[in-house]
Amino acid sequence: MEHKCSGKVWGGWNYHLCGKKAKVERKDVWYCGIHDPEKPPTKSQIAAGERYERQKLGWERRALEKAACANLTNEQLKNMIGGE
Ligand SMILES: [Zn+2]
Repeated sequence: MEHKCSGKVWGGWNYHLCGKKAKVERKDVWYCGIHDPEKPPTKSQIAAGERYERQKLGWERRALEKAACANLTNEQLKNMIGGE
């Protein structure tokens, strides 16, 4: 018996089922090679994840800096960085 992939594909305005020939079964649901939820991430997906983590740290840092400096005057900030 041939199974069809139950992966969801964004069709531009709604989702439809992938319907491709399924390769793997996950909890009674079949998926093709693309939509296998337990497929190990590709190198580019891992790299994108790492980029996102770094970006998140940057955003957090900026938010903290902003909060920490919110009550300081420009003069105080200049003194802190050793400016005139
Ligand atoms: Zn699929």
